Amino acid sequence: MKTKLLSILFLTSLTQINAQKTYPQDFSTPLKIPMILSGTFAELRTNHFHAGLDIKTQGREGINVYAIGDGYISRIKVSPRGYGKAIYITHPNGYTSVYAHLKEFKGEIADYVRRQQYSRQSFAVDLYPKKGTLKVTRDEVIALSGNSGGSGGPHLHFEIRETASEKPVNPMEFGYEFADTKKPLINGVYVYPIDGMAGGNKKNVYKVGFSKGTLTRNTPIPASGKVGVGVKTYDQLNGASNMNGVYSIDLYVNNEHTYNFTAEKVSFSQTRYINSHTDYHHKKTSKGWINKCFLDPGNKLAMYKTKVNRGIIDVESGKSYNIRLVVKDFKGNQKTSTFTLIGRENTPEIEVQNGSSKRFKWNIAHNYENEGIKLHFPANSFYEDIDFTYSKVGTSHKVGNTTIPVHKLFTISIKPEGIPAQDLNKTVLTRNGKSIGGEYKNGWITDKSKEFGTFALKVDRTPPKIVSVNLSNGSTFTSNSKIKLKISDNLAGIAKYVGKIDGKWVLMDYDKKYRLLTFAFKNEDISVGNHIFELTVTDKKGNQTRFERTFIKK
Ligand SMILES: [Zn+2]
Repeated sequence: MKTKLLSILFLTSLTQINAQKTYPQDFSTPLKIPMILSGTFAELRTNHFHAGLDIKTQGREGINVYAIGDGYISRIKVSPRGYGKAIYITHPNGYTSVYAHLKEFKGEIADYVRRQQYSRQSFAVDLYPKKGTLKVTRDEVIALSGNSGGSGGPHLHFEIRETASEKPVNPMEFGYEFADTKKPLINGVYVYPIDGMAGGNKKNVYKVGFSKGTLTRNTPIPASGKVGVGVKTYDQLNGASNMNGVYSIDLYVNNEHTYNFTAEKVSFSQTRYINSHTDYHHKKTSKGWINKCFLDPGNKLAMYKTKVNRGIIDVESGKSYNIRLVVKDFKGNQKTSTFTLIGRENTPEIEVQNGSSKRFKWNIAHNYENEGIKLHFPANSFYEDIDFTYSKVGTSHKVGNTTIPVHKLFTISIKPEGIPAQDLNKTVLTRNGKSIGGEYKNGWITDKSKEFGTFALKVDRTPPKIVSVNLSNGSTFTSNSKIKLKISDNLAGIAKYVGKIDGKWVLMDYDKKYRLLTFAFKNEDISVGNHIFELTVTDKKGNQTRFERTFIKK
């Protein structure tokens, strides 16, 4: 016993030394203002774990962004959505830093991007400059912070990735200073009857603490068979009211450490497993995020350092189980929740299969056909076996239950009944009313989806809309002003836009969330006098709108 304890102590100290020495501690900060975070690494987000830190920029755009170390710019991406304007710097120590939602690039970088945008005649670019092209030094200003792409307010999204694997690592591991003296919060603890009973219930998740309004936390909770634990938890940092993610979650059953989740690293190829890590049904029914402290059979996420029996507790009749949940933030502030399970006899459930549903095994491929519809699910599309349901309502196809997660793209083909032949190439496949694409081939309209829902076909013959914000015939502009227009499409979505002045392509900044197209005179060579501005916008089904106005440059 004594040797065992000693070796545990020895191993623990080894792990700690290891954890402290793993990551370089000499990177500089990307902003030279106090680091106040509105988002932490691996925070729970729709279909992904947050890949970096969201650093507050005092509620405004235009704050200097600095290279955190020497290196070279290995990628620059400009997109109307997602990361917006983003810079990637590869450093000689094996890590790449990423700066996103930028307002604008600075110096040589700005000139380089502009040249590429003009030569490709595209605002959206994804550039991979060669190693010697754009060198940067530590603390050099590379950009101004902004709100570009899919950002919900001015901030810097900052990541550090392992260069070789492109895996994002928690930037906090690199020794950044930030204030966090607040403990994480535990807002709910749950027991799941995986194959058994929890709190008298065999079907639904049991919320610890309350049952029909009565506090039961200090009374043992009856359980049987296989059960799992879930926790709703958040962390708060100093200086911001945001509900951030915690750093680690640990589960102890009768003092045995059975489960650990740590927000240290997450790969983009695994990030969608968040839909298995969390209670998808709970989230989809608008009740918030529950971290499951047990793993579904199909959960391959590599963020668990301990997963004894996949975190599942085998409850034996007559035995009691002391459950201790410990959540910590990166600074080590912790919150603990304890309760007791008392084992009852497990009475196996007789499986009653609903007549309209089909059992789909999680790890094998499935094909499904019904009147006017064909579906193909590749192997490992689900995290556990599911009951697949299908029904036809009018011309719509209700495919699966939207509170069940799907991990991989499945193929869906719908027969275009009642759609005239000349409209087939204008037909889109919709999920819950929104287009997911759709290609006509061999009598079917086909595309892919990663989510269950109600699928239907719709014909799109409506061209996009162009609404001028500040341009009418004869409008005047100065070198500091901008032409602004709003563009939108009703169904298929915008595929392309082309802005021209006097017949020559011009660079227009597109911000998808505001549907806003902007032309800035600042960097352009437009002579004083009369000019013609022209814009064509095309949707994904080839419907096109053209807009033309004359203006005067002063
Ligand atoms: Zn972010």
